[in-house]
Amino acid sequence: MVKNSFDVALVVGTRPNFIKAAPLVKYFENKNLDVLFIHTGQHWDKNMSGNIFKDLQLREPDINLETPLDGMNHQLSYMIKSIDNTLSKNIVPKVGVFGDVTSTLAAALVAKNREIELFHVESGLRSRNMMMPEERNRLAVDAISDYLFTPSDDAVKNLVEENISKEKIYNVGNIMIDTLKANLENILSSKTHVMDELQIEQPYFVMTLHRPGNLTNEVLNGIFKALDAFKKDFKILIPAHPRLSQYIESNNLHYDNFLFIEPLPYIKFLALVSGADLVLTDSGGLQEETTFLNIKCLTLREETERPITVSSGTNKVIGVNTEVIINEINKSLGSKLPTEIKIKNWDGKTSQRIYEALY
Ligand code: UDP
Repeated sequence: MVKNSFDVALVVGTRPNFIKAAPLVKYFENKNLDVLFIHTGQHWDKNMSGNIFKDLQLREPDINLETPLDGMNHQLSYMIKSIDNTLSKNIVPKVGVFGDVTSTLAAALVAKNREIELFHVESGLRSRNMMMPEERNRLAVDAISDYLFTPSDDAVKNLVEENISKEKIYNVGNIMIDTLKANLENILSSKTHVMDELQIEQPYFVMTLHRPGNLTNEVLNGIFKALDAFKKDFKILIPAHPRLSQYIESNNLHYDNFLFIEPLPYIKFLALVSGADLVLTDSGGLQEETTFLNIKCLTLREETERPITVSSGTNKVIGVNTEVIINEINKSLGSKLPTEIKIKNWDGKTSQRIYEALY
């Protein structure tokens, strides 16, 4: 059998993966690298996958492994087998993985078991909460990666404290900001159009929730009870991750007078965020995007793996207690935003620095 030969394989599976991989696929291909672009199919519905590719003008993957919707371990074992099968049929000297999802872990394990060089983009973030699958994935992938591409100084410090050799660490900056910068004009100029389309007016809040730890009746009831206090003065828009919609539906929960909508394509979503008075979220990426856009963000978790968003002055980690949420929203609405946001290497050139480290 003749094997196809590539310079590098990039493996993605979820919405945040596509957003992180887009600038790198484009940069590598502009440099004439042959990229084997693999989609595990972990996120498959059109709002979480197909529309995002179109939106980011990201080319279709070469292969979609069509991972079935199943428990985490079943998905992991399916992905390990199918990625292994794909790599067995191709010559690939390097594999790149992104972030902290099941697809990231699966591809990392397969690459190293095949003695292929592995690089991890968005390395070194730590929540120190081992109950989060994402934290366990990050630790495992960082421990076996050959190149660790970190977004910020705090991530470098975490890796050094874990005795990872400094030679493997490259502080290249935040790749999500490459995507955000590339689309910034479009995002900002779409704001009015998106508000018209959704038939909403300012002032409004945007909320996203999807972390398994927050999807319990108790936590959700507490969060929505807190928000009840603000519904009179603010529209509250919730582009709902399928995991949130499914939880609400299957547990027969009812939260009235909130604007639940389908997940939005990337540009529309960030256009909406750019006009918000406040964002409430448990998302990792959104904490960074609100920092870059200088929008107030309250993180509905007990900790963050992105402390730079807090020290920059836009984000605050507040947990999920009802009284605390009410107090913090009031404080946030009365507070001023930082006059300037400037973070080292959040400059849109992360893909370039990754390329230069690898080639
Ligand atoms: N996002 C999107 N549409 C939405 C909600 C979020 O495009 O309706 C984007 C958001 O801008 C960010 C990414 O999805 O870039 C975050 O993904 P998610 O919250 O699913 O994952 P996390 O960042 O927590 O890993």
